[in-house]
Amino acid sequence: FSCCVNLFCTWCVQEQEAPALSQAELKKQSMQEVRRSLPIFPYRDDLLAAIHEHQILVIEGETGSGKTTQIPQYLMEDGYTKGGLKIGCTQPRRVAAMSVAARVAEEVSVKLGNEVGYSIRFEDCTSERTVLKYMTDGMLLREFLTEPDLASYSVIIIDEAHERTLHTDILFGLIKDIARFRPDLKVLVASATLDTERFSCFFDEAPVFRIPGRRFPVDIFYTKAPEADYLEACVVSVLQIHVTQAPGDILVFLTGQEEIEACCELLQERCRRLGSKIAELLVLPIYANLPSDMQAKIFNPTPPGARKVVVATNIAETSLTIDGIIYVIDPGFCKQKSYNARTGMESLIVTPCSRASANQRAGRAGRVAAGKCFRLYTAWAFKHEMEETTVPEIQRTNLGNVVLLLKSLGINDLIHFDFMDPPPHETLVLALEQLYALGALNHMGELTKFILFFLLLISRYKCSEEVLTIAAMLSVNNSIFYRPKDKVVHADNARMNFVVPGGDHLVLLNVYTQWVESGYSTQWCYENFIQFRSMRRARDVRDQLEGLMDRIEVEVVSAQGDCVPIRKAVTAGYFYHTARLSKGGYKTVKHQQTVYVHPNSSLFEEQPRWLIYHELVFTTKEFMRQVRTKRTSVLHTETDTYKCVTKSISSSLSAIVG
Ligand code: ADP
Ligand code: MG
Repeated sequence: FSCCVNLFCTWCVQEQEAPALSQAELKKQSMQEVRRSLPIFPYRDDLLAAIHEHQILVIEGETGSGKTTQIPQYLMEDGYTKGGLKIGCTQPRRVAAMSVAARVAEEVSVKLGNEVGYSIRFEDCTSERTVLKYMTDGMLLREFLTEPDLASYSVIIIDEAHERTLHTDILFGLIKDIARFRPDLKVLVASATLDTERFSCFFDEAPVFRIPGRRFPVDIFYTKAPEADYLEACVVSVLQIHVTQAPGDILVFLTGQEEIEACCELLQERCRRLGSKIAELLVLPIYANLPSDMQAKIFNPTPPGARKVVVATNIAETSLTIDGIIYVIDPGFCKQKSYNARTGMESLIVTPCSRASANQRAGRAGRVAAGKCFRLYTAWAFKHEMEETTVPEIQRTNLGNVVLLLKSLGINDLIHFDFMDPPPHETLVLALEQLYALGALNHMGELTKFILFFLLLISRYKCSEEVLTIAAMLSVNNSIFYRPKDKVVHADNARMNFVVPGGDHLVLLNVYTQWVESGYSTQWCYENFIQFRSMRRARDVRDQLEGLMDRIEVEVVSAQGDCVPIRKAVTAGYFYHTARLSKGGYKTVKHQQTVYVHPNSSLFEEQPRWLIYHELVFTTKEFMRQVRTKRTSVLHTETDTYKCVTKSISSSLSAIVG
């Protein structure tokens, strides 16, 4: 707390002594003061000395201590970017990469994209001059393809290492390997106060540099009985805090965009009803797909007399620090990917978060003063129903894309790859088996010229124009149709207008084609309940795929309105995902698993005998999403070719291009 008091005094004194300072200069000065007040600041010189001495260093520090924003600046000040060498800092989340880069550019007083920039998929905000580059872990992985020794970097910071995303875990293995033959490369592994011994152990006993945090006590409250409706419980808790508790902002953890929007709406509506009976409550959402100007709003200081409530996904758990939070509301859930190697089913399910997560969340309340954390579950549930830590993503995901990537980096022996926690053997074997069946790997387990083959295959059906569109649309598939709760009927009607015979792939193609005809119009999207952002993304993916075709000189041709070749090509690409009508539902051909057509599908009513599906999702039933009828004749006459084509156009191709 003392640092805040100091800060305040210095600021007053400065104002008296130098009344002529402009607003911008004042802001800059106070920003420098904030930099100096961060817990990491007193350790600046020791840290630089340790980095100088060791090639690999693990850095542990409480969230908000300044690791992400300050360390790269210290390194710049210390000469690590001389001669145009770069510092790369990876983030598991796109939003974090963007927002932190923006903040640091401001602190260094440069325009974002000049010396300080960021790179996330489809958005490269860097230039020739960029020496400090924040990027998603996936983007750094891709840089290995063009620069296997990362020669243009002097320092790589693997930040948020404790998140253990799939890409971060793969980076660990690759970077440990190149560090051996690049003694000049510094590697920093930065993490919240979790698991750091394990990182040290993995990186051949690299020393751990600990930044002592300033943490204020946080009182933790549990509910007496489990909450039946945690969303409603959140809303009530926020309002209770707002009317009964001392000033201080509130942070609420929910699992995704839909929940967050619902919560914000409810809060706004109730505040409206209470009117001037309560003080002003600013309700701000934050999640990955929120437009960036809206994202930036969460950092604005709360006006005096008002209170801010930030409703966030677990992006606010460790990636982003919002100053001024005193109260945390934690329903104890998160959205998690899980993968069943036996059935090949990947699902995204809301599950209880781990105790480690819950403790990180609570910690967010004690950064600026003593705080309170309201857990919307019982103390018993915390002890007995939550896992100790979150299982690393690599152990609960489909590995097809990763295997493709590693193989294209020339890493053939995946069984002995240096994983910090190896994926389950059967998941790896299944990924290899699938890629082999698809013709992507030969019998030696080496990458074949399959991409080339795949593209030739598309061109063989003479409809690459349409297939590229379908692949691109599939990559953003679940967020194309907008269905707001208060306009469900209108939205569903709009959706019905796009239905064409043959299945969902052709519906997606239809949506995209009409959008192109509208001149890529935002208004058109709005009128047809289509999400503009998703369409723009699909267009980016499509451009990228088209670029790839161009590079290997495969001509893009159109089917000229004939949908038969398109259906053939999609069938060829997805032969692995076939299901047959059986007793009210469908059975998948490969695993004889009972599945159902998703109610949103254009084929929900029709129930054809054979189907090709894009993905299986687990919701209340095991649904197939994005289905189309299969032309059985095609299957019979051309079985042989199906053996050597890819499983899924969108996911296989995007593994190579992104
Ligand atoms: P760590 O990486 O150790 O968790 P950070 O470097 O992210 O810590 O945060 C240090 C400080 O920078 C925090 O006080 C945080 O509020 C501030 N900060 C980070 N990003 C932004 C931003 N986009 N706008 C305003 N403040 C920010
Ligand atoms: Mg950080």
